[in-house]
Amino acid sequence: MRVSTGIQGELDLINEIFSDDDAAEEKVLATAESLYRSGEKNIYARLIHVMCHLRLNATEAKRTWENILKHRDDLEQKLGRKTGFRVALLDYFVNESRELKNPKVIEIHVYAETARQAAIDELTGVFNRRFFDNALERELKQASRRNREFSLLIVDIDNFKRVNDTHGHTTGDAVISALGKLLKRSIRSEDTPCRIGGEEFAVIFPETDPDGAMVVSEKIRSEFAKLKIAATDLSLSGGLATFPGDGKTAAELIDRADQMLYFAKYSGKNRVICYSQNKRRHIRYPLEWELKVTKNGGDSGKTKSQDVSIEGISFELDENAEPGELLSLHLNIDSDPIELPVQIVWVDNNTKSRKFRAGARFIRLTEENLNTLRQRLPFKN
Ligand code: GH3
Ligand code: MG
Ligand code: MG
Repeated sequence: MRVSTGIQGELDLINEIFSDDDAAEEKVLATAESLYRSGEKNIYARLIHVMCHLRLNATEAKRTWENILKHRDDLEQKLGRKTGFRVALLDYFVNESRELKNPKVIEIHVYAETARQAAIDELTGVFNRRFFDNALERELKQASRRNREFSLLIVDIDNFKRVNDTHGHTTGDAVISALGKLLKRSIRSEDTPCRIGGEEFAVIFPETDPDGAMVVSEKIRSEFAKLKIAATDLSLSGGLATFPGDGKTAAELIDRADQMLYFAKYSGKNRVICYSQNKRRHIRYPLEWELKVTKNGGDSGKTKSQDVSIEGISFELDENAEPGELLSLHLNIDSDPIELPVQIVWVDNNTKSRKFRAGARFIRLTEENLNTLRQRLPFKN
């Protein structure tokens, strides 16, 4: 059994051992005992917490549970009829230990539904920010105890202000809600989807390495770009970080995922960037270089770079280009022009202006060109 704490742990336990049938009570008692025997020493503390919100440690809880069982036998003997464990529990906490003053008696599944709703974001049906914070801490504890990885994805809808401005808030809300539904249907049941800000979401992927998390994230990204809501072009950007390689605390992981989200925005949007796959890569610097573009040997016009790293470059294009396409960029840094062959990696044709933004990686860089780049760029990697 996957033991979780917090509200999710409570809900899991309720679903697992509280049924609605007539033998419900015997089942709870029997299951608790067998779970205890199989090594879950905390089960009585968890049950007492679920049933009456009292926090006892494992030993106290076990002793209290046994006292209640004894109390039940006493009561039944005196009354000459069955009272059952639940009635004995109430009498015990109200009249014997006096730990409960004004208990409210409620069907546990009604309680569970209320508790679940308090953790859910109304617009999207995914978990809310408060739940996310707890869930992340919980996952962190479990993963470190069990020596397991887990991944955190943070996504933010691209150019969302434009959606609101062009189509109104109702459409904006519909887009946010559609992303919530998309997240829910794209992930496994053990993953936790949350809305952590206006149009920002996070997903916790237990026992998932960067590659695995990247596959799901890419699926989410590409499915979202296919959605058609009020004829708007939709896309999202995301950042991924994995415990423990990329960060060992909640704050660190959020920070790393956020940093990658920022990079994703910065390098053209509509992409997910993974910290562990990116950290050895080189930082992009916002450098505006005059460029001449040639395609198949022919002149294709002039442009400016937007950012440059030792691996690649992003720039504006007058005409659309396809990922995979080969071009040559001629840099005129100082008086010593160099030619850099590149391959287009992405094109952002979301922009309203007739310009396209493209990102490309340097290919077949000669040793000489690489050295020239190294020398002339403000970074030394
Ligand atoms: P970027 O691509 O850089 O993310 O650009 P953006 O326009 O999406 O910018 P940003 O993330 O800063 O803006 C988010 C906007 O989302 C601001 C706010 O007006 C809007 N927003 C936040 N919450 C809601 C909501 O619940 N409903 C609607 N309709 N809009 C929201
Ligand atoms: Mg935002
Ligand atoms: Mg946004």
